[in-house]
Amino acid sequence: MTYDPGNIFAKILRGELPAYRVYEDERVLAFLDIMPRAPGHTLVIPKAPSRNLLDVAPDDLAAVAAIAQKIARAQMSAFGAEGITVTQHNEHAGGQEVFHLHVHVIPRHTGIELKP
Ligand code: 5GP
Repeated sequence: MTYDPGNIFAKILRGELPAYRVYEDERVLAFLDIMPRAPGHTLVIPKAPSRNLLDVAPDDLAAVAAIAQKIARAQMSAFGAEGITVTQHNEHAGGQEVFHLHVHVIPRHTGIELKP
C-alpha cells in the first residue's frame, strides 16, 4: 500500500483545505473532525506522510500518541467529559476512509451514544 499525497488530510497539512486546528507542533497536527461523532471530536495526525499504523515510523507514532493524550486530558476539562474514546482505523477493511494516519479522540458522557 502506498501513500497518496492527494488525500484530504495532506491537503489540510499543506493549507489547501481549511480545518479548525486545535494543536500544532513540528511533527503533529490536531484538528476538529468535520463530522463529529460527539462535540470536540478531534483528529490527531503526523505531519510526515504515512498511510496508517502499518507504515508509520515509530517516532511519528509516539509523537501522535503523546498529543492524543494531551488532547484527551484537555477534553476532560474543556468538554466536561466523563471519559474519552480513542479509535484508529487501518485500510478499507479496517474502516479507514482517509488514507493519512489519524487517531480519533472523542469526549464521552455517560449514557450518550456516539453519533453514527
Ligand atoms: P476514518 O474512517 O478514516 O478513520 O475517519 C476519517 C474521518 O475524517 C471521519 O471521521 C471524517 O468525518 C473526517 N473527515 C473527512 N473529511 C474531512 C475534512 O475535510 N475535514 C475534517 N476536518 N475531517 C474530515
